Amino acid sequence: MKDARTDLKGMSLGELEAFFRTRGKERYRARQVSRWIYQKVAEEFSAMTDLSRGFREELVATCRISSPAAEIMELSRDGTEKFLFRLEDGEAVESVLIPEENRRTLCVSTQAGCALSCVFCATGASGFRRNMTSAEIIHQVCFAARRLAERGERLTNVVFMGMGEPLENVPEVSRAIDILLSPHGFRLAGKRVTVSTAGIVPAMRDLADRYPVSFAVSLNAASDEVRSRLMPVDRKYPLREVVAAMRGIPLRSGRKVTAEYVLLSGVNDSPADARSLAHLLSGTRVKVNLISFNPHPHGNFRSPSPASLDRFRDVLMSAGIQTITRERRGADIRAACGQLTGASKDQRGRGKTGSRGREEPKNP
Ligand code: SF4
Repeated sequence: MKDARTDLKGMSLGELEAFFRTRGKERYRARQVSRWIYQKVAEEFSAMTDLSRGFREELVATCRISSPAAEIMELSRDGTEKFLFRLEDGEAVESVLIPEENRRTLCVSTQAGCALSCVFCATGASGFRRNMTSAEIIHQVCFAARRLAERGERLTNVVFMGMGEPLENVPEVSRAIDILLSPHGFRLAGKRVTVSTAGIVPAMRDLADRYPVSFAVSLNAASDEVRSRLMPVDRKYPLREVVAAMRGIPLRSGRKVTAEYVLLSGVNDSPADARSLAHLLSGTRVKVNLISFNPHPHGNFRSPSPASLDRFRDVLMSAGIQTITRERRGADIRAACGQLTGASKDQRGRGKTGSRGREEPKNP
């Protein structure tokens, strides 16, 4: 039977304040509860020892902190962990925790399935089922934070690039971002939260105006002719509009928008494609993540050869565009949903970067 108590997980500080106000509680109660849920990742009100016993009992009677079980957990030899959450209605979503030298990045899902049907994507092939709630999105973060805390580590980055298109679920993703950035939530800096999108132009503008988060935009082609075959959403938001929206994102000094580009052999990986991409992106503060396509049972594409990947990168770099190919992570556990599948499996097996440092995985 469905639990009728109010779920406090997924509520932003403002929502918690409003909730407690209507129950005649002091404002600071919201801050206390927010810190317990998101900073100390408590799952029981009984753990909230600085609340009076009476208040705790009241919370237990009327509220809950949802905590869907992680059904499958796999650990890669490189330390990458994949979690599968069974949601209350039986839907399953995945997140992936990627440890690197000085950061711990969690890739979260925002939808069960995806309606955008990008032809190279395993999630797209499974169709759309529903949007996730902010509670379900944030639970993935709580789960990873708790797991890291058990070994004395801290979550440093969150990327919205798991299953689903985050900008098709803006209200719930916005609530989740509020919680991630809040000083009474996860206290992450905006640059450590990345929203990865297939290029939903109005929502990109809206979110960029409201939050100082990073953006990664899946381009995957330098012409609408090719892109619309790979990503049907291109017919609604063509490249010209997507790149204009990228240019319109307010950026602090030194920051760039990320362009994701999945290389598909014989489709979008020629030097001419690279030159067109360089031309398309000229004058844009952008870095390009090149992702070698990872074959999956739902697609007929092939990975590019290491040589064509190198050629593509060299063309972009000689045009002055920062270009990164990523280290293969979690390959032995298929550490990725439809989007990460490509991102996590560089066929060369080694990261290579046209700049200093390494990049967190991003959305194809
Ligand atoms: S690549 Fe992203 S937007 Fe495209 S179908 Fe997959 S999950 Fe959806």
